[in-house]
Amino acid sequence: MYKRQAVNALVFLYLEVAGSSEDAYFMYTKGAMLKAAVMEDGEYYRLLTAMFMHFGISHLVNNMIVLFALGDNLERALGHVKYLILYLFSGIGANWISMMIGNKDPMVVSAGASGAIFGVIGGLFYAVAVNKGRLEDLQTKQLAVMIVLSLYMGLTSSGVDNADCIFCKIANGEIPSATIYEDEDFRVILDLGPASRGHALILPKEHFKDVCELDEKVAARVLPLAAKIGAAMKEALGCAGFNLVQNNGAEAGQTVFHFHVHVIPRYAGGPEMVTWEPGKMASEELAETAARIEAAL
Ligand code: 5GP
Ligand code: ZN
Repeated sequence: MYKRQAVNALVFLYLEVAGSSEDAYFMYTKGAMLKAAVMEDGEYYRLLTAMFMHFGISHLVNNMIVLFALGDNLERALGHVKYLILYLFSGIGANWISMMIGNKDPMVVSAGASGAIFGVIGGLFYAVAVNKGRLEDLQTKQLAVMIVLSLYMGLTSSGVDNADCIFCKIANGEIPSATIYEDEDFRVILDLGPASRGHALILPKEHFKDVCELDEKVAARVLPLAAKIGAAMKEALGCAGFNLVQNNGAEAGQTVFHFHVHVIPRYAGGPEMVTWEPGKMASEELAETAARIEAAL
């Protein structure tokens, strides 16, 4: 019964000794869930490893108390092996489902035994149903109260998901980059996969997912900074002009979910980019589209 708690606690101790369980980037390096790493780099082991990792002592303690309160009866009812299979299957399954459904930010690091706990709850319902409303000394009503209390504790515990991203690390100097400009609010770096020579990214040091989240101070500074970078590119690189590109949302081509502006130098005779085929729209359709957007403002 206590083996899973022991494994979770030992993993936690190790993480605290080796680094900090509240540092999302460190947790990522040790096997926490990161949608982008699983989907793009095929790091499927994270679905399993993340379920034994917790962010901070309260996250660990909450989950372990819940597991203790709910899992004890069920483990006796099912036997150790079936219980273990249920535990692992639920943990991996929950990580998989939370990765696949919804609009989960691919750069959010997450971990914890919560998925396994949901499986244990499902198992409890099953065991009680099979045993005609009872499990050992437990009645359905008592069980329901326990589950509600446990979930409340689990869901109110802090740090279940911990946001972090590569551009936060780069902007704040924790990961080295080819920096061309830095002040208290911004770092401007060269893109690792440049569209042209000198392609730069303006990164705010504070994390904003996209332009809709930007605070006013940062927003007010971005365009003047982009203009300054573009002018310097013309002078230093001899580009004829430059594009500002800024993607919001995966469908719009955003791949790193930390607001950034691309400053892309454009050289005479260079390849075409940032282009589209102009479509056609009837004037009623134009008017209707305009009215819809206007109404939402
Ligand atoms: P997005 O498609 O999200 O607007 O642009 C993300 C850009 O960030 C891409 O152009 C990509 O090449 C760049 N990028 C992604 N990871 C890194 C990194 O670790 N370092 C640097 N310098 N650029 C990166
Ligand atoms: Zn960030």
